[in-house]
Amino acid sequence: MSDVRNVIVIGSGPAGYTAAIYAARGDLKPLVFEGSVTAGGALMNTTDVENFPGFPDGVMGPDLMDNLRKQAERFGAELVTDDVTAVDLTADPKVVTVGDDTYLARTVIVATGSGYRELGLENEKRLSGRGVSWCATCDGFFFREQDIAVVGGGDTAMEEAIFLTKFARSVTVIHRRGELRASKIMQDRAFANEKITFRWDSEVTEVHGDDRVTGVAIRNVATGESSALEITGLFIAIGHDPRSELFAGQLETDTDGYLLVDAPTTKTKIPGVFACGDVVDHVYRQAITAAGSGCAAALDAERWLQDQD
Ligand code: FAD
Repeated sequence: MSDVRNVIVIGSGPAGYTAAIYAARGDLKPLVFEGSVTAGGALMNTTDVENFPGFPDGVMGPDLMDNLRKQAERFGAELVTDDVTAVDLTADPKVVTVGDDTYLARTVIVATGSGYRELGLENEKRLSGRGVSWCATCDGFFFREQDIAVVGGGDTAMEEAIFLTKFARSVTVIHRRGELRASKIMQDRAFANEKITFRWDSEVTEVHGDDRVTGVAIRNVATGESSALEITGLFIAIGHDPRSELFAGQLETDTDGYLLVDAPTTKTKIPGVFACGDVVDHVYRQAITAAGSGCAAALDAERWLQDQD
């Protein structure tokens, strides 16, 4: 058992580090559990980030996260590269467990993010940021006049495909079924777009490329036939999984597992527990929106603490 902390932040993506910066500058001496394998969050897996304000020439994802980390540390945040393994958020004070160690806090800020679903192919991770992408808003700009593909058949996949036609020469939607799951209106828009073509009943079996994506191998699941498609960009839009399992039975979620907050605040149903970033947000999912809500969570926690004193 340790002393009771003012704030424990769980997560070290843009949301968690920004919450840590604000809480530290509010003299709350936050303790941050960064996670082990995924410390630094989703941007550790990418190269250029060109849409984070303040970097006119862009910034490499890991460099941006390293800067946020240093900024949090500079103001006195205590950073621990470990995974939180259990929580009791209804206890007073709240209990955060990391393996055999237990930590106590008056407030907890949850910023555990969400994982993009992967295809599970050998080259997929290696070519992430080198043609493989999970975010059209982030990376579409890099694919001007190029031939690219989107994997998926839901609303997000159609939204990404339509958005990408602003830049790309052609967009091939690769979908493993014979019809889309997307809403009728999104389907109509996609079908009406001349730049979009469809590969039905198809799945990607290989991603080709040494330094950058050069193409994919596709298998028709109905006929078993294989074919190749030359593309320079592969956008994977088969869903995300919010990392909210740790809070199951304690914090409320929507049907997809995203944590519910009393928007526009970051307050959860449990007093003194706040949530921010992609574990809450399935709409915007950007580094800057995650950072903005991390700031809001720290300010909400600070005000909540003031009201208790
Ligand atoms: P994350 O960044 O996912 O961070 C979650 C954190 O929680 C991680 O540090 C993880 O270690 C930690 N965590 C999880 N569970 C635990 C636990 N049990 N204990 C302790 N810690 C835990 N957005 C842009 O704006 N521009 C871009 O160019 C861009 N490019 C992207 C490229 C890729 C490849 C990907 C995957 C995403 C990209 N995004 C981009 C989206 C952006 O990265 C996310 O919107 C943003 O990182 C979300 O921030 P977050 O802090 O909510 O979560």
